[in-house]
Amino acid sequence: MKITGLNEIRKSFLDFFESKDHYVRKSYSLVPESDKSLLLINAGMAPLKTYFTGEETPPNTKMATCQRCMRTGDLDNVGHTSRHATFFEMLGNFSFGDYFKVESLQWGWEYITEVLGLPVDNLWATVYLTDDEAYDIWKDIIGIAEDRIVRLGKEDNFWEKGTGPCGPCSEIYYDRGEKYGCDNPDCKPGCECDRFIEFWNHVFTQFDKDAEGNYNDLANPNIDTGMGLERIACIMQDVESIFEIDTMKHVLDAVVSKAGIKYGENPKESVSVKIITDHVRAITFMVLDGILPNNEGRGYVLRKILRRAYRHGKLLGIDGIFLTDLVNEVIEISKAAYPELVEKKDYIKKVIALEEERFQQTINQGLDILKDYINALDGKTLSGEKAFKLYDTYGFPVDLTKEILAEEGLSVDEEAFNEEMQKQKERARAARGDQSAWEKSALSETDIAATVFNGYTELEGQAKIMAIVSEGELVDSLGQDMAAEIVLDQTTFYAESGGQVGDIGQIKTSDGIFVVKDTVKGLMDRFVHKGYVKEGLIQVGTTCDTLVDEDNRLSSARNHTATHILHKVLKDALGDHVEQKGSLVEPSKLRFDFSHFEGITPDTLASIEKEVNRRLFETLPVQTEELAIEDAKKKGATALFGEKYGDKVRVVSVGDFSMELCGGTHVSNASQIGLFKIVSESGIAAGVRRIEAITGQAVYNYLSEVENKMKHVAHIVKGTMEDVDTKVESLTQEVKALHKEVEKMKSQAASSGLEDIIKGAKEINGIFVVTAKLAGVQPNNLRELADKISDKVNDGLVVLASDNGEKVALIAMASEGAIAKGAHAGNIIKEVAKITGGGGGGRPNMAQAGGKDGSKIDEALNRVLSIIEDL
Ligand code: ATP
Ligand code: MG
Repeated sequence: MKITGLNEIRKSFLDFFESKDHYVRKSYSLVPESDKSLLLINAGMAPLKTYFTGEETPPNTKMATCQRCMRTGDLDNVGHTSRHATFFEMLGNFSFGDYFKVESLQWGWEYITEVLGLPVDNLWATVYLTDDEAYDIWKDIIGIAEDRIVRLGKEDNFWEKGTGPCGPCSEIYYDRGEKYGCDNPDCKPGCECDRFIEFWNHVFTQFDKDAEGNYNDLANPNIDTGMGLERIACIMQDVESIFEIDTMKHVLDAVVSKAGIKYGENPKESVSVKIITDHVRAITFMVLDGILPNNEGRGYVLRKILRRAYRHGKLLGIDGIFLTDLVNEVIEISKAAYPELVEKKDYIKKVIALEEERFQQTINQGLDILKDYINALDGKTLSGEKAFKLYDTYGFPVDLTKEILAEEGLSVDEEAFNEEMQKQKERARAARGDQSAWEKSALSETDIAATVFNGYTELEGQAKIMAIVSEGELVDSLGQDMAAEIVLDQTTFYAESGGQVGDIGQIKTSDGIFVVKDTVKGLMDRFVHKGYVKEGLIQVGTTCDTLVDEDNRLSSARNHTATHILHKVLKDALGDHVEQKGSLVEPSKLRFDFSHFEGITPDTLASIEKEVNRRLFETLPVQTEELAIEDAKKKGATALFGEKYGDKVRVVSVGDFSMELCGGTHVSNASQIGLFKIVSESGIAAGVRRIEAITGQAVYNYLSEVENKMKHVAHIVKGTMEDVDTKVESLTQEVKALHKEVEKMKSQAASSGLEDIIKGAKEINGIFVVTAKLAGVQPNNLRELADKISDKVNDGLVVLASDNGEKVALIAMASEGAIAKGAHAGNIIKEVAKITGGGGGGRPNMAQAGGKDGSKIDEALNRVLSIIEDL
């Protein structure tokens, strides 16, 4: 039966090469493990580079993989050609100094013609201009017609990157027939149209290019091939583009149904559909591989692609959040080959939903602003400042701004944009302070060897002083109180790395004592002891004792081992998506940052803390061993993301509970940690949480402090530690009750003075005016009083004011008779309140107001009298 499905092709390829004695390995992550020069894995050979260069030994000299790849360089092609995606899978067979051209091409031919059954007449081959060897293999050994072997130049068929290993390649093309062709009578492989589709590239790494540009023969030439899985599926399924193959079509259909359009009707819409189809695959796999959206590096690529997909959704008229649903479809069609997608499904969706929501909140606003910018544009270029504002405030990746502008034939002043970006970076750097001064120090000119560290087992040792740097200069000796950095040939001081801070202590010679306040790793693994001379003289060339502060080191060790246990407990409690994102191990505390998308509830946090402590009580032994990296990984040791490891790694295990690659210092048994206490949990970035915790002595100190405080509180409330909580509770109740009582008494006291107040009434212009100054009466009680007085006075006007500390309360009440004679409570209160620095007003018969200045109450009440006099 003919193999056509993408998943079956993948399997048949790997099976085929397994039958040719290749070691088949599953896809590496999209994030390069150790290659700092590469942002994302872009070819099957990329994660195998160290096997090609000989830095590492491969598990087998023949290997085959199906590698997930990202090519952001093809971003602009996506949707416009039939053969480009940003995310795709690459099938590849590799030879590390094993077989060469003949086998590679022959096996390749066997696979495509015999296993896949591609018709020989539709197959073409290209070779490098001068590569007669490959030409002859195609012609004489494989037997392709000569007119279907095309010689192409350097940019098509020679692989090289600067100096180093390089070589010619040979590519296999499939002729899809005239219906996909262009009108050029010369159309053949190499033409950019869709008729001849390149699907398999065989690279023959046979030269080593030197600095003078000479191509020297490599002793052991290598083979590196790459065949796009989606492309070969496209050929096998005889569909127009890779977007229509079985797996991609599944996602594409979901996009089309979300958009409620008919695919293929409108070319512009089809492009958007393909872009979304590709991008949602890309972001799903990027998040799977631990990338989180942010503004730099891979995180930026993820953010850019996600936001681009979102915007194309808007162009198609899709409302609201939609990418998260599409992720389901991607997982559905990819889970057979990548079961880890199912395990991390919730996590992936959460990360994408958060980012999508974040962008949704600002995109419309940003688009409106960009529209305004475009309308106001004088010329064809948008200023860098404006593009930066869109980026900074509305989250528009500059590429998105560029793309939208390009649709209108406009562009961005990128240079100015980059300048703005640079300025922002500098501002950030200035805020952080310059930490790299040490790197430029005088030591870089010396040829001192790397320091040997022997502090894992010993805290004290002997060494020789190799160099002293004081105020940026190399010096021979150092006098009392002088600050300096000292390099030794060997040391027991641990230098800051892996999140663990450097050791402190003393370096003693026969004629002086140097206090070490910090230890860091300098250039070329030279340990730099920073500090000052406490006594005597320190000289280059003399021997010394290295004395590490034991308490300090042990505290760090406790926190470091505790960090490993916490890491594992978090994974167990929250899920496998928990990955270390940062860590700080100090003597006084530990800080652990990890990927997790939501806050941890107090209950879960408490159970995590409890579980860590339970592990401590198990008295698990801590063991370290040196292993080859591959062996360590095979044993299941946790390696950190993006960390570079040498051939030999140090593996730290806590019982058989936790196993991590780690260069730090640890206790020898978990029970030495004593106790573990979490002191805070918080979010520090999208999808990253932080836990701070303490151990050992620090927990004891913390508990003592809490206990002392409790004792003090108990003493104040005349209780004991046991009943202090109920005591405090009943005291609070009591205070509340008393407060109420006081209020009541105040108002009663005021009422009982009613008669006196009424007696003081003055008759002015036929109105009985009653004014009174009170203290501590709240507005509603004041109103009650005014009512009572009004009832007892005919034709009365009552104005009361109460001084309530920070505030003044005022009320005025006028009877029918008083109103008839011209009094107006609202107007009166308005004027009077002003005097006390407040305002208010109301109806003719009743009005209330507030004021501020209690000392003005007398003046205010006198004003009432004069107002009535003036009627
Ligand atoms: P093209 O010229 O078509 O972009 P390429 O020369 O960049 O291809 P290689 O770098 O040789 O391709 O990669 C090896 C194989 O990987 C190609 O033959 C092709 O089958 C596949 N491939 C490369 N780029 C993509 C892509 N963007 N999407 C899907 N498959 C790809
Ligand atoms: Mg390409």
